Amino acid sequence: MRDPVYLDGFATMPLAPEAQQAMIEVWRQPANAGSPHRLGDRAARLIDDARASVAALLGASSPEIVFTSGATEANNLAILGVSRWALSGKSKRRRIIVSSVEHKAVLAPAESLSECGFDVILAPVDGNGVLDCDALQALATDETLLISVMLANNETGALQPIERVSQIAHAVGALVHCDAAQAVGKISVDVLDLDVDYLSLSAHKLYGPGGVGALYVAASAPRPHPLVFGGGQQNALRPGTEPVAIIAGFGAAAELARSRLSSDAAHAADLMSGFENRLWNAGLDVVRTTGNRPVLPGSMSVHLSGVDADELVLSVSSDVSISTGSACNSGQVLPSHVLLSMGLTQSISREIFRIMLNRYNKSADIIYAADKIVDAARRLKDRTGRLRQ
Ligand code: PLP
Repeated sequence: MRDPVYLDGFATMPLAPEAQQAMIEVWRQPANAGSPHRLGDRAARLIDDARASVAALLGASSPEIVFTSGATEANNLAILGVSRWALSGKSKRRRIIVSSVEHKAVLAPAESLSECGFDVILAPVDGNGVLDCDALQALATDETLLISVMLANNETGALQPIERVSQIAHAVGALVHCDAAQAVGKISVDVLDLDVDYLSLSAHKLYGPGGVGALYVAASAPRPHPLVFGGGQQNALRPGTEPVAIIAGFGAAAELARSRLSSDAAHAADLMSGFENRLWNAGLDVVRTTGNRPVLPGSMSVHLSGVDADELVLSVSSDVSISTGSACNSGQVLPSHVLLSMGLTQSISREIFRIMLNRYNKSADIIYAADKIVDAARRLKDRTGRLRQ
């Protein structure tokens, strides 16, 4: 039996063989960067190299990169760490603005701050899931401590106007955090061009291993206060023995992403046009939820009218891995906050599925996957008696 064609890159990307090889090499020997011997030096060097590779991918410098367990922790460190910095007497500002389509790893830490006297505000998006910059401008006051907006959305792939967010924030003296977990490694990301103070990323979204990520902290920005305390590693901002192997895998994936950025994007665009042709010419009622707004290469969020997305995902799952826009909370499937905040109704939200192609997909796989999706969609539409052809 063949493996399903994997099109669920929003969730995680396949591991690059180069990253796997880098990790296997590290695991051959014990590696604790704090040890005072040759193997300790080797571990420290491996971490330095990986830090330089991650920094280079972002246009940052090595000391600005803090390794974390992933983007969830990086987001928490930025949002909670900056508020702790403010609460320690460094700033009287108590407003935090996050976009309404942020990942829960931004929304939850931000919302938790309302209990500590912060005024936490959601900035709205338009019907295609792109931040409403006029609304953000109206919300940004000289009370604003931090504005956090993602670079690319994890349900729609929509790219957000971060340069504009930084202008708005900095004009009122606020700091900017950007959750770039989905974007880094897929589009060119330069922290100086974006003019952000903090930026989160995650290795497993860029063909690296799970369990490691990073927070970029601009040299010019206030240092967040740590959330965990211990042995003083990483200048005590994120202590704990560094997981050298997965950090090295992250570094290898970052190097690879940097060298393949344009060829990966061209490959994704090529495959996507084949996929779209198939889907759009199948006589189904198909609409991209992002309209004609720019999205991550290889990503698509689609409304297939009359086709329940959960049933679609389930019925193709032995052949193709795709996802819905729904989030499963305590056994109850709820429509995603992202789709709802785009103004979509619950019933439309239930008919939306998403895909993110990857660099290892082949043209024949994409055609095969599209045909499986079309067949299943037709069957499901037939069954509900809603075939409109
Ligand atoms: N932020 C975004 C936009 C994401 O898509 C994800 C993962 O789905 C995360 C944060 C969390 O990343 P991690 O799995 O590295 O904790």
